[in-house]
Amino acid sequence: MSIVDLRSDTVTRPTAAMRATMAFAEVGDDVYGEDPTVRALEERLAGDLNFAAGLFVPSGTQSNLCALLAHCQRGDEYLVGMDAHTYKFEGGGAAVLGSIQPQPIEHAADGTLPIDALQRACKPDDPHFARTRLLALENTWHGRVIAQDYMIAAAAWAHSHGLGVHLDGARLFNAAIASGKPARELAAPFDTVSVCLSKGLGAPAGSVLVGSCELIRSARRWRKMLGGGMRQSGILAAACIHALDHHVERLADDHARAARLAEGLRGIDGIAVVGQHTNMVFIDIPADRLRALDAHLRAHDVRASIGYLPTVRLVTHLDIDDMGIEKVVEVFRTACPEPV
Ligand SMILES: *Cc1c(COP(=O)(O)O)cnc(C)c1O
Repeated sequence: MSIVDLRSDTVTRPTAAMRATMAFAEVGDDVYGEDPTVRALEERLAGDLNFAAGLFVPSGTQSNLCALLAHCQRGDEYLVGMDAHTYKFEGGGAAVLGSIQPQPIEHAADGTLPIDALQRACKPDDPHFARTRLLALENTWHGRVIAQDYMIAAAAWAHSHGLGVHLDGARLFNAAIASGKPARELAAPFDTVSVCLSKGLGAPAGSVLVGSCELIRSARRWRKMLGGGMRQSGILAAACIHALDHHVERLADDHARAARLAEGLRGIDGIAVVGQHTNMVFIDIPADRLRALDAHLRAHDVRASIGYLPTVRLVTHLDIDDMGIEKVVEVFRTACPEPV
């Protein structure tokens, strides 16, 4: 029986149709700017999101890092959420490789960074301080769609203080589908936007950074320095174009399945469903049950990221169907036979 893997939407494997498109992709050397499929992807996403230029990179981490490096110089600072991916989950790359200082800001419960907190953190021009240069936001943030009114206000605040604004839109299309707003509208307040094709969209690898010609030219230079200049990468770009053509609308199915999963788990003693946003479900499990639950799930071919924190994140994606959801609910039910 096949494994139902809820650890992340990065675990998706390319579909047969995607592999067929990859096999016949027209390719060239992209470092020479000669891969037509990579160019088509960059132009496609830049056009869709209404930006002048795009840059194909191997990962979302590298896309965000190229953006931070394009916006900031050594000794600059960026304002970023304490639980934001670019701050917390990217190895400190901006500081390590860019000499860019992060200024973490506490998130409000809805995931926003309150503008008065941004205002307090934004430094005046004074040699004591790093130069505040950039605001980096994220959508979706831990599955949550961030209110567009907030994005518009925060970007306007940043621009009025001379800061650039970057969006880590790893799951921008999940936000678009869930909110019913076009992705280009969600992207509009920002100077640069990074989008992952390798999450719910199902490509095997790849992110695209979009922005102005000037910022993307700088990001392209950084991509080369970071080792992200790939050669016949049209093979991968073809998968990304296929994902944009065929896997965007269906994100609604992942969201519906996450809602169904949350509903199924809500009826089980010993599990507290603490949130469901887009394709993610968050549950709290008593700490002393975590190891037994992990073993039980593994024994029944269900995978979840169970660490030592009581909150467990379950993520739906392209490779999980309705039967998979029913199976997961059943496996959780048998793992929790009586109240603990
Ligand atoms: C996954 C993710 C990224 C990029 O991750 P990679 O694994 O490097 O592709 C960036 N930001 C967010 C919010 C993500 O979820």
